[in-house]
This record gives sequence, C-alpha cells and structure tokens, in this order.
Amino acid sequence: MGKGRARAIVLYGEPVLHAPCAEVTTFDRELAKLVDDMMASMRAADGVGLAANQIGVPLRVFVYDCPDAEGEQHTGHIVNPVLKVPGRRPATTKDTEGCLSVPGPHTEFRRAATATVTGLDVEGNPLTVRGTGYFARCLQHELDHLDGVVYVDLLSTRRRRKILDEAGLE
Ligand code: ZN
Repeated sequence: MGKGRARAIVLYGEPVLHAPCAEVTTFDRELAKLVDDMMASMRAADGVGLAANQIGVPLRVFVYDCPDAEGEQHTGHIVNPVLKVPGRRPATTKDTEGCLSVPGPHTEFRRAATATVTGLDVEGNPLTVRGTGYFARCLQHELDHLDGVVYVDLLSTRRRRKILDEAGLE
C-alpha cells in the first residue's frame, strides 16, 4: 500500500466514462501499477471504490475499500469482474449513493442487497468477492462503471439533471 500515484479523477461527461471498458488480457507489471495508482487515487479522493475508466483507463478493473453490512472493511481489486445477482428478483435495499466522477451530491435509490462478483486478481488468479450492505452497492456501482454506466444514468431524467446541476456538470 501507498506505492501508487494518485491520478486525476475523470468527471461525468468525459467519453471514457460513457463507453464499455475492454477486458484485460495482459497480466503484467503495468497492470499491477495501474491497480496501485487506482488505490492511491481512490484514497486521495476519499472514495470507497474506483473503476479504471475513472482515471481515464478503459480497462475492466476496479478497486474498493468499503464496509459491508456487518461493518467489516473490504479492501482489494478485481480484474474482468462478472456480477452475479442472486435470483431473478433479488432482495433490494434503498441507500444513499454518490460518485467521485459526480462530486458533491448523493441520492437514495434501490439496488440488490447482496452481490457476488467473480473475476481475476492482478496476477490472473481466480477471485470471488461477496458483498452485503454498502459493499454490495459498491460492487454494483463499480461494475456499472465498467459497462459505461454512471449511477445517475439509472435515475429518472429529472433526478439526473438535478444531481448533475448540483455537481456543476451538464
Ligand atoms: Zn462512481
């Protein structure tokens, strides 16, 4: 920890946030450096999660440092993550959500109450991450980023405009 370099966070409206990211195919030192820089960028910005395209790199990687429903802190990264939401109509919870790419405002909305993500670690080893509470929300939020979706895109036009206006974005 602490070996990465914090990079600037890309804001809503930049094309890299609004297109799907590419699968990682090379597990080399450059990827390890990207993960270190993402961790440093998330910490510098006081975030609980960060997707690679939020620092301008369109690859399917995210990092997290987030508490779950029991208050346990989860810190790590996942490469090429795939989300498994339990069942077709999963239990949902309403909670407050914000985004480093839409700085300032937070809003309440529903997401699945638990989430399981499978993927790889930075060396290419299989990895499964299970989340409850706020960590489940974080996993879904970061997965959305990798598909080019920012949380405000999931809200009504009226609510989205209000939040973007509050953040000073268009
Ligand atoms: Zn975000």
